[in-house]
Amino acid sequence: MSEEMGISTKRDEDFSKWYLDVVRKGGFVDQRSPMKGFDVILPWGYAVWEMLQQRLDKNFKRHGVQNAYFPMFIPESLIKKEEKHFEGFKAEAFAITEAGGEKLEEKLFVRPTSETIMYHMYSLWIRSYKDLPLKINQWNNVIRFDTKGTKPLIRPREFLWQEGHTVHSTKEDAEKWLKIVVSMYKDMYQALAIEPLVLVRPKSDTFAGADYSIVFDTLLQDGKVSQGPGSHLLGQHFSKPFNIKFLDESGKEQYGWQTSWGTSIRQIGITICHHGDDKGAVLPPEVAPYQAVIVPILFKGKEKEVLEKAESVKEQLRQLGLRVHLDDREHSAGFKFNEWELRGVPLRIEIGPKDVAAGEVTAVSRLGQKDKIKISELSEAKALLENIQKEMAARSAKFLIDNIKDVHNMDDLKEKSKAGGFLRGNWCSSGECEASIKAESGHEIRGTLYGKEEKCFANCLWCGKPAKHVVYVAKAY
Ligand SMILES: [Zn+2]
Repeated sequence: MSEEMGISTKRDEDFSKWYLDVVRKGGFVDQRSPMKGFDVILPWGYAVWEMLQQRLDKNFKRHGVQNAYFPMFIPESLIKKEEKHFEGFKAEAFAITEAGGEKLEEKLFVRPTSETIMYHMYSLWIRSYKDLPLKINQWNNVIRFDTKGTKPLIRPREFLWQEGHTVHSTKEDAEKWLKIVVSMYKDMYQALAIEPLVLVRPKSDTFAGADYSIVFDTLLQDGKVSQGPGSHLLGQHFSKPFNIKFLDESGKEQYGWQTSWGTSIRQIGITICHHGDDKGAVLPPEVAPYQAVIVPILFKGKEKEVLEKAESVKEQLRQLGLRVHLDDREHSAGFKFNEWELRGVPLRIEIGPKDVAAGEVTAVSRLGQKDKIKISELSEAKALLENIQKEMAARSAKFLIDNIKDVHNMDDLKEKSKAGGFLRGNWCSSGECEASIKAESGHEIRGTLYGKEEKCFANCLWCGKPAKHVVYVAKAY
């Protein structure tokens, strides 16, 4: 295998280099663009994004969300209307001060997120309780000057995402809606065969301008965690400065209650880092753009019959509802095996002259299992894919459970955190203790379990005083 083609680094040697190899050589992203953090999403990576997009979009629409599009520039006066929001984003927002060679009268920010521009418009649209709830989503790009350093898909400066923004007439309705949002993201995680921790972030890490944030944290194979979707209860923090008011049923003027929620292409990076192996990416069948790739094994004089059989197998699998691709390029079979493994295709189907004669194919799962399938019983390929999905989900659930360790004090935390993963400890809820834990150990309080109150089992990790919450602590990207 040539250096250019395969992966030269193993995960346990240098996880970061392994990841960069997989994203580029696996056809997900090319980060060699002229600007750091502004990466090119390659066709294979984009196809995975489309799979996630279609799944989410279908769910959004089923729950009454409509798609729309808003401008990517936000005038400074607008973004400043919500003080905390502006404070939270100004360090990472790109600004435009010049256009057509002339200095602009007002600075324009390139959207780091669209609350302000959307809510300006919402205030023009909403008049009465009859206009509510308003549920709008955008599929767009946002740009953030991330100072933590960039990483393709995980931490790019420009990323594709969806951002949903709703207005409700009561706080209860807004919170009820957030539960639905969380269930839609859970469905995405199920498709990704990833077991996340769904957490409510501590105040210090709540979305700028929100009451609370619900996030999906995923444990990666290097022991660090990465944040997936975030869903925020904005309360009336934006509706007041942006004047989003409605007349309620009794004719009284009220401010709306809001939520915002988003997930991005980071999800693809998370999937690679969660499931990948030393051969490359491993994509779960539910989101793999190709669930099966057929590789014909060609010998001189037998090419025609093998290719014809391969075509017919492809057609039968397609009719069974599989996303299937026939790789009939002139490359060697070995080259193709490596490439599709690197890209993470769940099932490889080999057909050679002997298989044709025996009326069967060889199915090789990305998890390593090899099976012979009779061409008359190709529906077995479907069962194999279902098994791969289940197996990946089971491995993920075990990986999470095996990597949550209870800790009782800082020494305990420092010792047990060496192996990575989540540490489960107790916290008094003081911001000083939170900051001290991070400064001392490099680990952050990621939050408390969403939707489940856990009983404290020790005193605060830092100050030793009685604790208020059981929290999950980890090193994060
Ligand atoms: Zn404390």
